[in-house]
Amino acid sequence: MDPTVLIIIAVVLAVALVGGLVVARRNRGIQAPPSRSALVTADRTLAERLGKTRQALGSRLRAAFARSAVDDEFWDAIEEALIGADMGVPTATAIVTAARRAAPADAGEARQVLRAELLATLGDRHRGIHRSNDPAVVMVVGVNGVGKTTTIAKLAARLREEGAESLLGAADTFRAAADTQLRTWADRVGVDVVAAEPGADPASVAFDAYQAAKSRGKDVVIIDTAGRLHSKSNLMAELKKINRVVEGAAGSVDEVLLVLDATTGQNGVAQTEVFTDAVGVTGIVLTKMDGTAKGGIVVAVERELGVPVKFIGVGEGIDDLVRFDPAEFVDALLADV
Ligand code: GDP
Ligand code: GDP
Ligand code: MG
Repeated sequence: MDPTVLIIIAVVLAVALVGGLVVARRNRGIQAPPSRSALVTADRTLAERLGKTRQALGSRLRAAFARSAVDDEFWDAIEEALIGADMGVPTATAIVTAARRAAPADAGEARQVLRAELLATLGDRHRGIHRSNDPAVVMVVGVNGVGKTTTIAKLAARLREEGAESLLGAADTFRAAADTQLRTWADRVGVDVVAAEPGADPASVAFDAYQAAKSRGKDVVIIDTAGRLHSKSNLMAELKKINRVVEGAAGSVDEVLLVLDATTGQNGVAQTEVFTDAVGVTGIVLTKMDGTAKGGIVVAVERELGVPVKFIGVGEGIDDLVRFDPAEFVDALLADV
């Protein structure tokens, strides 16, 4: 056979093989609930999954720590590194000021002090999902496209791992395909969905979802909401109504999770007022942490909003929701220093 033909066949086979592997990798993420060991692996590789933030912050910090003296320029370089990771000027300044006050003698001590200050800023807070009602009510709010629906599916899979069965309420009746998307995810995870016609009253869908979860003996009802911001006052009224209606049915809302997209950084924080004003936010989920060098936003968000970050999203797959653990996070950030 002509050698050119052989080469072409070899190239086609290689491309098909690589393509197959890529597809297999992608599909792996969106299959049925992951095993416990898959979740453990997800937690263990946090430093890898925060690759971009870790590399960007790490290289800046390494440059600072390579200096021989712990002097003004050293601290300026640290502060710039923290700001570069999107911790925000007030937060970065507060951390560096506190670290300086401890007067570390050398770079080794400075690293310890910096670690301690980052941890102190994040604080020791309850980062689990509150579940006092039966079923517990979890509302998920946030701007369009931040990852609410995806996070809900991941959360339902996670709760299942912990032995709690969820029912999902599709109270995003604004986006035409929103309930279809939620259903697709729910089918993958194997949980029930209560939805309504597009344009239906979101609060009534939330109420129906609560009643269905109660009568079917589910442990948690997770309410997906619309995130459009073009009519803030409508959105606020709608969220308040959903909140009021489920509160009336259940006695209280156990969690209001605000989902934020880490790639929008500080801009995303500004958008959150509308949600904190409308409904009391009890926890934050920062998504897309895998795709940004600005993962320091976690620290700024928690300090500025005063609400604990409970989970971080590190990919599009069902097992890509990681419990936020401050020590693990700070150590991942400082891994290369
Ligand atoms: P509860 O305190 O009775 O609600 O039980 P949980 O299982 O919710 O939480 C027990 C402890 O585990 C909490 O004090 C948290 O520190 C920790 N924990 C639970 N859930 C999470 C989570 O999602 N993220 C983190 N980082 N810690 C959690
Ligand atoms: P919603 O409009 O807030 O409900 O957002 P969706 O759940 O529809 O998500 C919007 C897009 O963000 C989808 O393409 C998701 O796959 C993607 N997404 C959600 N969370 C993450 C994450 O943690 N990492 C990455 N890379 N993508 C995510
Ligand atoms: Mg959605």
